[in-house]
Amino acid sequence: MKKNDYKLPNLKDAQKRTKQQVKIEKELFEVPVEVKNLGVDRKFYLRTYGCQANERDGETIAGILEQLHFTQVDTPEEADFILLNTCAVRKNAEDKVLGELGSLKRLKQTNPDLIMGMCGCMAQGEEIVDIILKKYPHVDLVFGTHNIHRLPKLLYQAMMNKERTIEVFSQEGEVIENLPVKRFGTHKAWVNIMYGCDKFCTYCIVPYTRGKERSRTMEDVLAEIQTLIDEGFKEVTLLGQNVNSYGKDLGIDGGFARLLEEVAKTGIQRIRFTTSHPWDFSDAMIDVIAAYDNIMPFIHLPVQSGDSDMLKIMGRRYTIEEYRTLFDKLASKIKNVAFSTDIIVGFPNETEEQFQRTLDIVEYCQFDNAFTFIYSPREGTPAAKMQDNVPMEVKQDRLNRLMERTNHYARLKNEAWKGKTCKVLVDGPSKKNKDVYSGYTEQQKLVNFTTDQKIKAGDIVDVEITDAKTWSLNGKQV
Ligand code: SAM
Ligand code: SF4
Repeated sequence: MKKNDYKLPNLKDAQKRTKQQVKIEKELFEVPVEVKNLGVDRKFYLRTYGCQANERDGETIAGILEQLHFTQVDTPEEADFILLNTCAVRKNAEDKVLGELGSLKRLKQTNPDLIMGMCGCMAQGEEIVDIILKKYPHVDLVFGTHNIHRLPKLLYQAMMNKERTIEVFSQEGEVIENLPVKRFGTHKAWVNIMYGCDKFCTYCIVPYTRGKERSRTMEDVLAEIQTLIDEGFKEVTLLGQNVNSYGKDLGIDGGFARLLEEVAKTGIQRIRFTTSHPWDFSDAMIDVIAAYDNIMPFIHLPVQSGDSDMLKIMGRRYTIEEYRTLFDKLASKIKNVAFSTDIIVGFPNETEEQFQRTLDIVEYCQFDNAFTFIYSPREGTPAAKMQDNVPMEVKQDRLNRLMERTNHYARLKNEAWKGKTCKVLVDGPSKKNKDVYSGYTEQQKLVNFTTDQKIKAGDIVDVEITDAKTWSLNGKQV
């Protein structure tokens, strides 16, 4: 492929939003005849980094490759095609991938036909693709989040025509249905209900890497869930960067609340969803969650900061008082609900007082779990242009102080389960000890437990909690 045939990412284009409704395409995925058997006697190694949206993309990629008759392997050494499905949300995620790409270069020496690929959110970044072009000549294939369906053609070009292939679309296209999927789980599945994000929080790269918000139709989501039920799946997690926005682009009245209720009515045993933005969490949604036993009492509600001025600069659209009011409403209406959150420290110019307010909201909410991050500037986002007067040592110190508190409450919340019995969806026996099983409670708590009964992955069993740690519970089946 000649250099000027490359289709390179462009962050300005990625930022654009149009009012035009996207098309739902049911027949866009195709495998040209010459590519149909590309994977016969060939193996692929896929490694996915980052969030659940990436995990779900990984399942599509694996599904496409198996349709081409590739076999999935567990180590890069065995593979004819290595693909890293990447995350761009923080710099350390990107550094990990660049390090891995560097270290995998050695495999080209023993296998010159090896195809090395990179896809996912990092591929949507101008700077990263430029680095790959200049410093990683052994990377043969780069594609983005909007053209996974073109993998058969792109891989053929890289593999058979020996052309370095770089194709990244910076504007989302259609919602593409009927892509193959290889589910990595046997009883728990991810289900995309929408793609993209239009919130543009000032620190976040996701709206640029994943494009504008676009929903799948309710019929397509429900049909996928019915298939999963028929295949024996017990739990679905509905995925979107902000699921609360579901259906707005399709003009679906009541949007996510309506979808959630319809999913609950399918009778699937466990329903989870992520992520809900605190800004547009409707009362109708709360009522539906409270009304159905198969919607799990667990809410991931990212707060990001405890200070209203900081939230404003972050572009979060709520004040800390509004967050607290929503939190209280959820806690009072949904029985035994558990909460997790995301928090960023060291946003440009964050003061000690503002950080203290973040500690205050942690004391107030006592989250069951918190994902805590040091702010990482992302090229192309508004926050990356802000002057920052907070030294890295101060940011690190704030993160340590914050984690001390969030871990304390995680442990405290787990302690409260001691002596109680909870329903656990079994994942299977532990790798280390066959007599110990593990699974998750309705509140998404990991439980390791013993049993004298014959159980298997996918069963829902009653477990009495005997001990609590910060990240897990111990118990015995009753
Ligand atoms: N859409 C989801 C939401 O709004 O909660 C999740 C998006 S992101 C993959 C997950 C978390 O990463 C965010 O909630 C935020 O706390 C964190 N994050 C995003 N951009 C970041 C940045 N530039 N630096 C540090 N943390 C960041
Ligand atoms: Fe990023 Fe904000 Fe969108 Fe979440 S809601 S993906 S944090 S821009």
